[in-house]
Amino acid sequence: MKLPYVFILPILIFLFGCADINDKSSNRPNIIFFFVDDMGWQETSVPFYSEKTSLNDRYFTPNMEKLAMKGMKFTQAYACAVCSPSRISLMTGMNAARHMVTNWTLRKDQSPDQPNDTIESPKWNVNGLSAKEGQSRAVYSETLPQKLKRVGYRTIHVGKAHFGARQTSGEDPKNLGFDVNIAGHAAGGPGSYLGKYNYSAIWRAPKQDIWDVPGLDKYHGTDTFLTEALTIEASKAIKDAVEREKPFYLYMSHYAIHAPWEKDDRFYQKYVDRGLDEFDATYASMIEGMDQSLGDIMEMVDELGVMENTIFVFMSDNGSPSQADQNLPLRGHKLTPYEGGVRVPMIVKWSGVTQENSTNNQYLIIEDIFPTFLEMAGIDFEKSDETDGVSFVPLLKGEGDYPKNRPIFWHYPNTYNQPPYSAIRQGKWKLIYHHTNRKLELFNLEEDISERNNFAFQNREKTHELSRALTDHLLSSGALMPWDKIKQETVPYPIEVIKL
Ligand code: CA
Repeated sequence: MKLPYVFILPILIFLFGCADINDKSSNRPNIIFFFVDDMGWQETSVPFYSEKTSLNDRYFTPNMEKLAMKGMKFTQAYACAVCSPSRISLMTGMNAARHMVTNWTLRKDQSPDQPNDTIESPKWNVNGLSAKEGQSRAVYSETLPQKLKRVGYRTIHVGKAHFGARQTSGEDPKNLGFDVNIAGHAAGGPGSYLGKYNYSAIWRAPKQDIWDVPGLDKYHGTDTFLTEALTIEASKAIKDAVEREKPFYLYMSHYAIHAPWEKDDRFYQKYVDRGLDEFDATYASMIEGMDQSLGDIMEMVDELGVMENTIFVFMSDNGSPSQADQNLPLRGHKLTPYEGGVRVPMIVKWSGVTQENSTNNQYLIIEDIFPTFLEMAGIDFEKSDETDGVSFVPLLKGEGDYPKNRPIFWHYPNTYNQPPYSAIRQGKWKLIYHHTNRKLELFNLEEDISERNNFAFQNREKTHELSRALTDHLLSSGALMPWDKIKQETVPYPIEVIKL
């Protein structure tokens, strides 16, 4: 019996359509985003500066060295200066001035900003990233894992989430596109790294259960360090995804090396023996614990036979905290607009694409992760008015167009251990606008990585040009500015200050 054409055509479309989807899905690479918290640019034995520094000699990160040998090291990768803004940027592709989650989040409708006599933070998005439209003081946008999931990825969240405030939809990574959530919730730090304290802070502060790491009950009462527990669980999740024959996206988001700083006993003594004091040895032990996790995950991927089809991206979410040693030659630390606050270590290994043991000196910023991962996954992405990130796949491939002289931005209109500011980098120049005193600083990063010499007065032309570009960005992204309590006015944009 012959089937009429009208019946055959839909059948053919169905068969070939399915085959097409399956083919694409099976070719999509796995992506592991190995994301460290509060790790400074120099806190590794991999040198990210043009020469080895004393911190490179202090720390021991053999697995990062291995990854760098196999992949591409980025010497000028940037994040925001504090946790939540970086995390929302990579999830949405938006710059902080646009998503307005400009400081860290925790409690619903509450800001951690400190009261200040002269300046007041604007009504920023204290509730973080929301899973649904209409949540007050929150940003809503389709997330990176939601987009990956739609084309067949298994999306796995392990570790620190810190996307949305408590009692909002964004506190649970499963509401934001992750199939699996291991240990992620609203809090940006663990109560403790120690299994014997059940990863809780209540042993030292009885009412502070808000920091309790969820979902790791089986390790309670054991001597398993949090970094290790997360690694074991991540390895199981990878194995499970491979067995399901699905490409996976692992967001391996370590709590380490964020406070509270607690000894990772597997590595601590070695650093004491090398002469470090208790704090420095503790800090170093947490870094090596994180590095061990990277090694264990690489080993698991290798054992499962999927190494060639798995992309590794290593990055930190902001610079090192002020309690840690200065990341020389950089100035500043976490929260500040200086390089020590925003420049972070980054390595990408993509088999058959990135050149082994290569270094890339082009700058890029955390919101670029969003379009980059979409392109890696073979998902078409058109840059819209709502996103700011630019895919850096051309840099990985060493071919194609990449806007090398593009401007990148920071916006922190908040008062939390740091006065508010906005900043722009374009080419070798970086302009910082301090909201409180309305001062401008202009640095030539090519010659002055330590940001010692302010050229704002000498090079008025560049100061003007970057003030214009920064103002345009703030205006077009709808950025909120703080309130000047003395002058009783909203802090003006930098171009208005120049004109005075
Ligand atoms: Ca952080």
